[in-house]
Amino acid sequence: MKLTFLGTGTSHGIPAIGCTCDVCQSDNRRNRRRRSSLYIQAGGVHVVIDTPPDFRDQALTFNVARVDAVLLTHAHADHIFGFDDLRRFCFLQKMIIPVYGSSITLASMREKFGYVFEDSLWRKSVPQVTFCEVDQPFQVGALQITPLPVPHGPMQVYGYLIEADGHRVAYIPDCSAVPEELMTALPPLDVMILDALRDRPHPTHLTVDQAVDALQRIGADRSYLTHLCHDLEHEATQQRLPAGIHVAYDGLRIDLSRECIT
Ligand SMILES: [Zn+2]
Ligand SMILES: [Zn+2]
Ligand SMILES: [Zn+2]
Repeated sequence: MKLTFLGTGTSHGIPAIGCTCDVCQSDNRRNRRRRSSLYIQAGGVHVVIDTPPDFRDQALTFNVARVDAVLLTHAHADHIFGFDDLRRFCFLQKMIIPVYGSSITLASMREKFGYVFEDSLWRKSVPQVTFCEVDQPFQVGALQITPLPVPHGPMQVYGYLIEADGHRVAYIPDCSAVPEELMTALPPLDVMILDALRDRPHPTHLTVDQAVDALQRIGADRSYLTHLCHDLEHEATQQRLPAGIHVAYDGLRIDLSRECIT
């Protein structure tokens, strides 16, 4: 299984428009964070989790040449507003792409992208997709996928557990808590990726300390923080993390089959 972090930033992206802080002005490319998304390749299947507003740039920059399925965590703007760019993959692959999510997420997608389902002259220039509501484990080719319901402030959203090639990865980019029962139900993980917005408490996201606490309890072989805001400079944040916990960055690739990170 191969993972590529397509984006690791919070909703406004980094640099934030008009911001002159050290992180937004940094020359370190690891401080440039597109909106959060993960690309997974396993068993000949290519899956993207969320289609952020940066999706076209992410696909071009990180060589996303195929998308067989889309998993949506929730319908906040920073996770879905690159959805229309799926058109290129529908055209190239000549297929209808399945889009998985909770009933609430997909109802919100139908509202925001109503034109996708209209029968009109433009039918061929909209994403050719089918929405699949999921609340139980399901298969996409060789991938076994389990929705992980988590609170995101007052909302319930999904993270996902992905299992393939004998490897297991869990991805939860937006949450305000990791429920106790979820923590104990998770199987042993190769990689766990979790929301860590900033140090100051936030009503809908985890702080770095809260994320580290949850990650230590989950105990994956390798853990990564994502969905970071401009309060967190990459190197300074990495230096204060315990062993085994890392700050993710855009373009980070993990090949679990070869045990290599680039
Ligand atoms: Zn978000
Ligand atoms: Zn800034
Ligand atoms: Zn959100």
